[in-house]
Amino acid sequence: MSTLLIKNIGEFFTGDIARPQAAVKSLLVDGEKIAALDPPADTKADAVLDAGGSAVMPGLVDGHVHPVFGEWTPTQDTIGWIGNYLHGGTTTMISASELHVPGLDYENLSPDLVTSLAVVTAATTGRIRWSGAKVYAGTVILVPGMKEEHFDRLAAAKSILAKFIFFPLGCRARGIRTKVHTGGVSRSGLSQMCGYDILEWLKPDVAAHISGGPIPMSDSDLDKVIDNTLFAIEICSSGNYGSTKRAVDRMRAKGQLARLTLGTDTPGGTGVIPRGMLRNICYIASVCGVSPAEAVAIASGNTAKAHGLEVGILAPGRPADIIVCGPVEGSAGTSIADAIAHGDLPGIAYVVANGEIVVSGRSRQTPPPKRKLFFSCCDLHDGGFAAS
Ligand SMILES: [Zn+2]
Repeated sequence: MSTLLIKNIGEFFTGDIARPQAAVKSLLVDGEKIAALDPPADTKADAVLDAGGSAVMPGLVDGHVHPVFGEWTPTQDTIGWIGNYLHGGTTTMISASELHVPGLDYENLSPDLVTSLAVVTAATTGRIRWSGAKVYAGTVILVPGMKEEHFDRLAAAKSILAKFIFFPLGCRARGIRTKVHTGGVSRSGLSQMCGYDILEWLKPDVAAHISGGPIPMSDSDLDKVIDNTLFAIEICSSGNYGSTKRAVDRMRAKGQLARLTLGTDTPGGTGVIPRGMLRNICYIASVCGVSPAEAVAIASGNTAKAHGLEVGILAPGRPADIIVCGPVEGSAGTSIADAIAHGDLPGIAYVVANGEIVVSGRSRQTPPPKRKLFFSCCDLHDGGFAAS
């Protein structure tokens, strides 16, 4: 177990939508967890990161990914996508089903096949941290005929989510949350049209890509879902920009941002988007009027909470998933909040996942932040810093 002290924090985003920004100047990590915010001034640590006035925010939570096996996705013939997303600030990803496995026969999905696919993916892609990121894999595609024994197998595999895509079933078992594909037909070509009536009947835990993935439900259905239901609502990078603005504007006006979650719905036809979650934050802040700190909380704490996860909030006892970032040279933003409000991508310098520094010095997916940061380790605890 080792400790890491991040000091001279200029802006602190909590990930908690109820109080999304705080005047925290330093943060202590002990092992895999956050040990303290603003620990005593003489706190010693095995490693010290002088943020030099940069921003600290929770690692982002992509609520909608489609993994296949580890870092490989056949949808865009890409290797290394998870590590690339990590460099875009995403430390946690939640599978919205593993339906891109080559050769899968969508016309003949049986309960045994979909359960086995989820169990195998949980035991492989979901088992280890790829490049440091955690992927909650093993999300079953629910099909007719599933029995208790299938949910027993999924629970034993520690599956956290099940996905309705082709058929509306009414079962929710063993703490496994449910997510429903909404809108028109997806890339697989087989999902059913799902609008307000089906959602109101199913009452899932999360309504997936409410503004399209890629085709949204009608504007009037979208309005009704926001006005008349209570479950979590997800917006994805795969959606329709007009519908996204409509949905977020309406939720903001009605004080409903606490139920909003974000994801990329990638890899898939939309592509492989390492900066996808940052782009989602910038879009809802700069175009839909959400405050930058709320946008960060929606992309972290809100999305984690809707899926029953502890990550996404920077508070003592929480997992140490942290981004250190700052405005990029040339950005209109003088601070990260300012940059995000303007729609400018943050420059990531460090990412900590599960207490470990997994991006060090600069991200390979964002421009570097303008401000310099200093990292020191071993025996340099009393004010002297070795620049790295
Ligand atoms: Zn999807």
